[in-house]
Amino acid sequence: MCAYNPYENMLEVLEAAARKLGLQQNDYEAIKYPERELKVAVPVKMDDGKIKVFEGYRVQHSSSRGPCKGGIRYHPDVDMDEVKALAAWMSLKCAVVDIPYGGAKGAVKVDPAELSKDELERLTRRFTAMILPIIGPERDIPAPDVNTGPEIMGWIMDTYSIFKGYSVHGVVTGKPLEIGGSLGRTEATGRGVCIVTDEAVKYLQIDASNLRIAVQGLGNVGGIAARLFHEAGYKVVAVSGSTGGFYKESGLDVPALLQKAKHLDDYSETGAKKIGNAELLTCACDILVPCALQNQITAGNAAAVKAKLIVEGANGPTSVEADAILDKNGVTVIPDILANAGGVIVSYFEWVQNIQNLIWDEDQVNETLRNVMVRSFNQILRIVKEQKVSFRLAANMQALYRLSKAKKSRGIFP
Ligand code: GLU
Repeated sequence: MCAYNPYENMLEVLEAAARKLGLQQNDYEAIKYPERELKVAVPVKMDDGKIKVFEGYRVQHSSSRGPCKGGIRYHPDVDMDEVKALAAWMSLKCAVVDIPYGGAKGAVKVDPAELSKDELERLTRRFTAMILPIIGPERDIPAPDVNTGPEIMGWIMDTYSIFKGYSVHGVVTGKPLEIGGSLGRTEATGRGVCIVTDEAVKYLQIDASNLRIAVQGLGNVGGIAARLFHEAGYKVVAVSGSTGGFYKESGLDVPALLQKAKHLDDYSETGAKKIGNAELLTCACDILVPCALQNQITAGNAAAVKAKLIVEGANGPTSVEADAILDKNGVTVIPDILANAGGVIVSYFEWVQNIQNLIWDEDQVNETLRNVMVRSFNQILRIVKEQKVSFRLAANMQALYRLSKAKKSRGIFP
C-alpha cells in the first residue's frame, strides 16, 4: 500500500464526481491544479536570541467563484501536499454551501506548544508579511484552523493593516470581537456539525432519544460540538484530545471534562475509563464525530467502526479506502465539505459585516447559519436519493458542478 497522500485522495474523489456528472475533461481539467502555491521561509528571533527559520505555505486553489478563503494551521507535520489538499477542499466546501468564495489554505510547519507567546507573535507577524502580497479582503482571506485562533488572527489583521497604513478588518476572519470579529464565529464549526448531525439523524430515522456519540478532538471544533451535543440532550459517551480520552457508557460529564481539556491526564470521573485516540474511533457508539486531523479512519480500522453514522468535523479524516469499507458496511458518512462548513459560513458573515461596517446580533448569525446548513444538507440529500450515491460523492458532485460552471462562465484567459 502506498503512503497516504491527501492531494491524491482529493483528486480521486473529484474524478469520481466528474465521471458521475458526465463532465468532459475540459470542464474540470483546471480544477485539478491549485492556481497558486507559495512557500516561504519565516525567520524568527527566538527568546534566547537565536534565529530559527520555519517553513510556511499559502496555497490558493481556486478564485473562480470569488476571493480565495481558508484557514492557517500551525502543525509540525504539515507539508505542501496537505496544504494543497486542504485548499482544494475549501473551494469544494464553499461551493457546496454556495457562498461566493474560492478556496485557499495556509500553514507553518511548527509546534506552537514549543514557542513562547512572544515567539508565536513574531512568527505570525513575519509569516503574514511574507504572504502579504497575495492576501487581502478581495483576494484571499485567512482564518483559524488547527492550533490557531482569534489572538493569532488579530496579529494577522494588525500586521496587514500596518503595511496598508489603515485598518483592514476584512483581511482575515475569526478575529477577536473588538477588532471586527463576528458573534458566533468561535462556535460556528461545532454548531454546524450539530445541525448537520440532527438532519442526518432525522433522515436516517434513528431514534434520537438514546443515541451515543463519540467525539475525537477537543479543540475549537470537537470541544464545542461535544458541549452542544451534551446541551441538546445527546449522550456523549467518548471524547479524546491529543493526550488521550475517556469512555463512559452512560454518558460523560462534558462540561466538567472540558474544563480540563488541556490536561486530561488530571481528569477523573466515576465510571469513565481512559481510552486512546485509536480506541475512540472503534468504540461502542452510534455516531462518530472525528474533529481532529486527516487520515484517522483508514483501511486499517474502518471495518472495526461500530458507529452507523459518521459526521466529519475534521477535514479529510477518512481515506478513500476506508470510505469504500464504510459504504459496504452500511455506515452513512456526512463528509467534511458539508459537515464542517459552519466555520467558513460564519467567516463569510464576518467578512460581509466587515466590508459593510455592520454588526449582526448573535441570533441573526446563528439563524442564518442554520438556514444555510439545512438548505445545503437538503440539496445534497436530494442528489443522494436521485443518483443513489453516498453523501461524499453527492457533495463533491454538487461542488464540482458549481465550480466548473463558474469556470466555464468566466472562460480561460487568453
Ligand atoms: N479552517 C476552517 C475550515 O477548514 C475555516 C476556514 C474559514 O473560515 O475560512 O473550514
